[in-house]
Amino acid sequence: MSVMLFIFGCTSEKKDDAAAMVERIPEVEALLAQMTLEEKVGQMAQITLDVITKGENEMVSDEPLVLDMDLVRRAIVDYGVGSILNTANNRARTVEKWHTVISQIQDVAINETRLGIPVIYGIDAIHGTTYTAGATFFPQQIGQGATFNRELVRKAAEITAYETRASSIPWNFSPVLDMGRDPRFARLWETFGEDVYHTKVLGLEMIKGYEGDDISSPYRVASCPKHFLGYGTPLSGKDRTPALIPEIELRERHLPPFEAAVNAGVQTIMVNSGLINGVPVHASYELLTELLKEELGFTGLLLTDWADIENLHNRDRVAASQKEAVKLAINAGIDMSMIPYNLDFCDYLVELVREGEVPMSRIDDAVRRILNTKFKLGLFDTPVTHYEDYPLFGSEEFESVALKTAQESITLLKNENNILPLSKNSRILVTGPNSNSMRALNGGWSYSWQGEKVDEFAQDYSTILDAIRDKIGAGNVLFREGVRYDNDAAYWVDEAFDIPGAVRAAANVDYIVIVLGENSYTEKPGDLHDLTLSQNQIDLAKALARTGKPMILVLNQGRPRVIREIEPLMSAVVNAYLPGNFGGLAVADVIFGDYNPNGKLPFTYPMYVNTLVTYDHKPSENQARMEGVYDYESDFAIQYPFGFGLSYTTFEYSNLIVSNNELRPNGSLEISVNVKNTGDRQGKEVVKLFTALHYASITPDVQRLRRFDKISLEPGEEKTVTFTLTPQDISFINARNERVNEAGDFDVMISDLVETVSFIK
Ligand code: BGC
Repeated sequence: MSVMLFIFGCTSEKKDDAAAMVERIPEVEALLAQMTLEEKVGQMAQITLDVITKGENEMVSDEPLVLDMDLVRRAIVDYGVGSILNTANNRARTVEKWHTVISQIQDVAINETRLGIPVIYGIDAIHGTTYTAGATFFPQQIGQGATFNRELVRKAAEITAYETRASSIPWNFSPVLDMGRDPRFARLWETFGEDVYHTKVLGLEMIKGYEGDDISSPYRVASCPKHFLGYGTPLSGKDRTPALIPEIELRERHLPPFEAAVNAGVQTIMVNSGLINGVPVHASYELLTELLKEELGFTGLLLTDWADIENLHNRDRVAASQKEAVKLAINAGIDMSMIPYNLDFCDYLVELVREGEVPMSRIDDAVRRILNTKFKLGLFDTPVTHYEDYPLFGSEEFESVALKTAQESITLLKNENNILPLSKNSRILVTGPNSNSMRALNGGWSYSWQGEKVDEFAQDYSTILDAIRDKIGAGNVLFREGVRYDNDAAYWVDEAFDIPGAVRAAANVDYIVIVLGENSYTEKPGDLHDLTLSQNQIDLAKALARTGKPMILVLNQGRPRVIREIEPLMSAVVNAYLPGNFGGLAVADVIFGDYNPNGKLPFTYPMYVNTLVTYDHKPSENQARMEGVYDYESDFAIQYPFGFGLSYTTFEYSNLIVSNNELRPNGSLEISVNVKNTGDRQGKEVVKLFTALHYASITPDVQRLRRFDKISLEPGEEKTVTFTLTPQDISFINARNERVNEAGDFDVMISDLVETVSFIK
């Protein structure tokens, strides 16, 4: 059946009935045929480990993890619960512990329930296996975005899949495919950045790294791209607050990464916890069933975010009762409910089916998607893995990839008179609240939700201070924090801590390395009142600047905090993002020249709090195009552009060749450019191809990233980089919400070289 959709995406082709598209696996069908309504509904419930463990279950508790077997049986035997998530007491465990706990759970599911269906365990292993002690931690996704390196992103995901499976966990709530287009957003660092093509490409690599060709492999996990759709750009900038996103923008800049993930056969997807245009996404039949399941053809498992069915009643008030909330969400297309605290969900859903409010066909569809995922993961054959089969867990081999990824993420933003790299014979003052903190290097989702337990688990790794001491000898390093975080308070609270002492110490050194930024956080606790860097940190920088000693600013932060006031005081600026356990080493390698930086900003670094603009803006947001009309020089001033990042060598671009000056609907363009290393050391360069339509029926963006490639060049070496573009690459969503190509000219731009091509229909 093929019908036109009129409610959403007015002219899009509906592929087919969503449930009919889902694969029929004989073993799963045989099970489904035997299941009672209660058993089916139980499969649709996901509870948090906290509710079945003994002890206080306080988020801050250090209680040992001991299952309460009565509660385990109540959930899994009485209610038939199909899934469990997270860790208990919000803290990491060893692989041995994970093995014991998940074995106990699976034992009950397999041996004590009528049909013996294994539980599917899920976790947020978002930059490494977050909740396993000794796992390999990579830079957070924003840092991985800055590498612009497909291979590394895939490799990091492969290692994470291996270590997650080593922990007996087969399902990972990653990657984040939301757009990082608003630096106020507390989860910006969980995204790849502001560009939709870059997010799509790196997101696919991450998914391939997690899932491989076959998720039944004991080294792969099911991924769970999140949070469908439009999470990340709330109007207020604050987590889980309303977003207004017109359909043209949803389709142009939010949908493509999810669409690519679905086309790549991704197993599961998690839903956006917020409201779009007044409608909670968890209650949106249009977004979940019509768009995701029917139009895109997603045949996998659709999971809610945390307590978001309850939120339809408690917070968002589209349901007058909890039962009504369950009805809305399941009928909208939700397959599994992340219900952390209670099992009323199951009781309500059974009643709703009996009352005819939720069709049995919807339940069968949801359960089929869930069981298909369990089956494909091989959980019926191997419900638990054994850590002894994973000898590479936390190995040097894996850690070397984490170091490499951290090095490739470090982005050099300013280097006046080539002050960097510093000589190893220098005397240095290391200062700032982020200079001696593993917690700040890692950020949130590191051994615990807010990252507050990092220092306990990451003692063997180097902070920036440790790494600088190792490089040049402790005797050449003075350390005065100047400002420090209050680790017991909200993450953003810092306090002046002997700024005068830091100033005095500066008298005895050649250079100051000042490490500023943010403490770890995620989600609502990371909501901000002001994007500007904290006043204490600005005061520290200004006080030190008065000493006249050259300053190297290292930024260790999850989002670009505004540094306009202090940036001119700095001789060099290095953005480290949240580089993980090897971030200290990577930063020191760059500062002392053992590594030639090649990271590029995956977002536009703002200069003013009220001037938040992305690189792919409209012409009216670009001063250059307004010349002679207004003279507001700084209207859209930014600190550093998207894609920017310096190197210790220099690159020259030449010979941009486009195979044809015309492009037709079924045609393609071959585009090549020469890049030469004109400096005296090896370096890596990200070659970026942008296009810009001259005119279109909707105002075209001034530029759009269409391709990128990262290459390595020896001194004097020259390489030709070739890209292929098709009309699809320059298409856009028009005012009727259709993806189109219009006849007209467009520019192809690499570095400062430009060629113009005509698209002819
Ligand atoms: C977050 C999700 C996460 C889930 C489970 C939620 O609060 O929004 O990204 O996967 O918790 O931990």
